[in-house]
Amino acid sequence: MQPLTILADDERLLRDSVYEFADKEIRPLVREMDEHAKFSPALIEKLFALGVMGIEIPESHGGGGATFFHSLLAIESLSRVDPSIAVMVDVQNTLVINALLRWGTDDVKTRFLPKMATHLVGAYALSEAGSGSDAFALTTRATEQGGDWLLTGRKLWITNGSEAGLFIVFANVNPEAGYRGITAFLVERGFPGFSVGKKEDKLGIRASSTCELLFDGCRVPKANVLGEVGKGYKVAIETLNEGRIGIGAQMIGLAQGALDHAITYVAERKQFGKAIGEFQAVQHQIARAATEIEAARLLVYNAGRLRDAKLPFLTEAAMCKIFSSEVAERTASLAVNLFGGNGFVKEYPVEKLYRDAKIGQIYEGTSNLQLQTIAKNIMG
Ligand SMILES: Cc1cc2nc3c(=O)[nH]c(=O)nc-3n(C[C@H](O)[C@H](O)[C@H](O)COP(=O)(O)OP(=O)(O)OC[C@H]3O[C@@H](n4cnc5c(N)ncnc54)[C@H](O)[C@@H]3O)c2cc1C
Repeated sequence: MQPLTILADDERLLRDSVYEFADKEIRPLVREMDEHAKFSPALIEKLFALGVMGIEIPESHGGGGATFFHSLLAIESLSRVDPSIAVMVDVQNTLVINALLRWGTDDVKTRFLPKMATHLVGAYALSEAGSGSDAFALTTRATEQGGDWLLTGRKLWITNGSEAGLFIVFANVNPEAGYRGITAFLVERGFPGFSVGKKEDKLGIRASSTCELLFDGCRVPKANVLGEVGKGYKVAIETLNEGRIGIGAQMIGLAQGALDHAITYVAERKQFGKAIGEFQAVQHQIARAATEIEAARLLVYNAGRLRDAKLPFLTEAAMCKIFSSEVAERTASLAVNLFGGNGFVKEYPVEKLYRDAKIGQIYEGTSNLQLQTIAKNIMG
């Protein structure tokens, strides 16, 4: 029986090499990307070269041929340095590629997966102004015309909107059928009638683009329907059920990054004639945070391992997301406290992590929605 945190050689290699990359290539850019709210384009190419943009894509399609759990390790390692970079990798792997692998026809896989392994960024467009938690109330419409589908509507909050070339877009083909009309479409940048609108100016994960998408009679060929017509609700829900484990991984990476900074700082900062890390009160705060991170990591790893073992994981995924996002917020807050005044200014890295942490309780299902899932599963 393998302990949960003991990684196989290839898993450890991936985790460590991605962290090394993040430390060397991303860390110097973190502050600038946050200030300008923009991803460095060169970095996207480097993420592809590193192999973290197509982790689960089979080798026959040019990808890493690895597992969902490997994606979690990459997301965790990147988040330790910059959670806003990690979310691009998260959406690419745990939502878009995951959905293409599960629901794509051979034709869809052959057309898109080799590109996604080398240069094509993906986005996942479910939310709208009037449908967030109540995702199936979406109003983007798809009507059939001349063998194609025409999409009309507006999506909001779409991660990777600025960089993506491929968008999984959920629209309803038959509103009278309710959620049973929802269908997933593969919209390519450049399709007539499709445009990327306003980019949000955010509190945290600022380098990650979050955009409005506009569909004005956007023509989508039949071959770009993902899964069955009217079964898009299954694509949406089943992908998000797994995707939220990725957010758990993002949050434990963020928490670990904040704790790393705090441990370094308290060893250097002197007050009352000694390093503040020598005060037992400070040591206990750090010990408590480390304990919480370990507990959150066990939840995330367990949910990921369950998913890869094809065992039930829904409750565990919801638990790992809610708990790790709360641990991230608490740990980042502690790091700000331990940095004192320096924790409150942009010259030091922890105020950004504090801002970044908040998103974990909002996207891919708010904390209330996670609690609802857990309660439903354990109370019947
Ligand atoms: C930075 C960012 C990136 C995002 N990326 C994407 C993306 O790539 N693709 C995408 O499709 N969406 C994305 N989203 C949207 C995100 O998933 C939604 O914001 C989220 O699901 C919440 O929806 P909402 O904002 O409409 O809030 P609401 O649903 O209006 O919720 C507001 C509050 O009400 C509570 N609430 C709602 N219903 C209930 C209930 N039944 N019981 C108890 N409490 C309830 C919620 O918990 C929350 O606290 C992103 C959002 C952000 C901010």
